[in-house]
Amino acid sequence: MEKQNIKTDVLIIGGGIAGLQAALDLGDQGFSVLIVEKEASIGGRMINLSKVFPTLDCSSCICTPKMAAAAHHDKISIMTLAQPTNVEHQGAGFAVTVREQPRYLNAEDCTGCRLCEYACPVDLVHEVEGNLGARKAIYVPFNNAIPQVALLDMDNCIMCGACEKACPTHCIDYLQEPREHTIEAGAIIVATGLDLAPMDVKAEYGGGKLVNVLHGLQVERLLAPHGPYGRVLRPSDGKVPDTVAYIQCAGSRDHSIGIPYCSRVCCMYAIKQAMLLSGALPLVEVFIYYMDIRAFGKGFEEFYQNAKAMGIEFIKAKVAQITEDEHRNPVLRYEDQVTGRVEERAHDLVVLSQGVVPAWDPRAVLPVEVGGDGFIAAANENVAPCRTSITGVFAAGVATGPKDIPDSIVQAGAAAAEAAAYLRGNDKVESITTADRPAQRPVEVG
Ligand SMILES: Cc1cc2nc3c(=O)[nH]c(=O)nc-3n(C[C@H](O)[C@H](O)[C@H](O)COP(=O)(O)OP(=O)(O)OC[C@H]3O[C@@H](n4cnc5c(N)ncnc54)[C@H](O)[C@@H]3O)c2cc1C
Repeated sequence: MEKQNIKTDVLIIGGGIAGLQAALDLGDQGFSVLIVEKEASIGGRMINLSKVFPTLDCSSCICTPKMAAAAHHDKISIMTLAQPTNVEHQGAGFAVTVREQPRYLNAEDCTGCRLCEYACPVDLVHEVEGNLGARKAIYVPFNNAIPQVALLDMDNCIMCGACEKACPTHCIDYLQEPREHTIEAGAIIVATGLDLAPMDVKAEYGGGKLVNVLHGLQVERLLAPHGPYGRVLRPSDGKVPDTVAYIQCAGSRDHSIGIPYCSRVCCMYAIKQAMLLSGALPLVEVFIYYMDIRAFGKGFEEFYQNAKAMGIEFIKAKVAQITEDEHRNPVLRYEDQVTGRVEERAHDLVVLSQGVVPAWDPRAVLPVEVGGDGFIAAANENVAPCRTSITGVFAAGVATGPKDIPDSIVQAGAAAAEAAAYLRGNDKVESITTADRPAQRPVEVG
């Protein structure tokens, strides 16, 4: 396996909005930054959202310039398809082993022209489109992906050679191997973000089994102007939905599934999507089944009231079960908490507001303390919420707990400031090149 040594002031794990913001803040102060991102593009969840609450601004119009700014910044380097596999203390900094998966092409030579993609005969479900759209075995991950470079899904490649013949720069390399890098970094920021709780976490809701029961990220793609169908259709038969139901707290605030905490964004993204659906489909009826609405942020209450004024129906109810009728319409069985009656109602499409869970458990690689919810714990929540239990390791964004984009950006800025102060206080910018220099601060391990 090819090995490479890289020195950087700060290593950022995760290239979502939090990682990008921290990188830009540090890069602008003159620190060298390396972002290590496990996916083929930076941008995290935000780049694939349609619009953002409560302003309804276009999400990719805000995220793309930050991605481009990071990619073109002379102090920021980006490594995609890469994840840390080991972290050790080295002097006052860290030696981090990072494994980079092959793209099976020379990224420097790929122009992102997509001729390989057009030539590829293999059709597969597209993960970026929430498995609703299709992609080829060789593909550029999405239109505004950064880097604009293709990757070959070797597990599904039939080795027909069509991409190689079509590539004008002859950059396909079927024999590429994973690469291992040793990153010498003065500080680390963990910004690994979120996943959604598995769709089958509450088996009684039929998630993952019933074709017209989706999760919120899939609906973000349906609502995006360049989404999988180009319009809002339900997956089973392409019907434009007449009624859509949101089930709140479908995989959160529930001890029985091990996710007792509030995911903090579901109320607002359900309301946002309901409003966007009403705009996209003027005849649609949208129902939000909820326990209580948590509209705690700036402008959130007004957003909620606007949704009610638009005719979105909020039903205070506990949904017990979702089944399917003969037309593949999901059928809800629920207790209306106002009337006390048990009701049944069919909808064309149901959206489960799944709980937010950490995308990465760092402990096998980096023994930072995590809380009972699995998110990275702050060394002292009230004094330094971005510091972790390991000196020199900071955390930002949803890696420390569910939060929205503005809060993730604010925390990323704070983590960058903390990391900068740490590096300066430690005289670390130069010291990382001096391997035998002793650690200047006590290192705490969780
Ligand atoms: C359906 C839905 C709709 C939403 N709508 C809104 C909205 O309208 N407005 C709003 O403010 N918020 C919204 N949010 C919340 C928003 O998505 C988050 O606040 C935001 O994405 C957090 O950014 P982040 O960088 O912390 O995490 P992420 O966006 O998750 O980015 C983390 C990055 O780290 C990478 N990563 C993970 N593990 C590793 C690893 N081991 N090694 C390397 N890289 C790794 C991931 O691939 C990803 O690129 C929504 C969330 C959902 C689920």
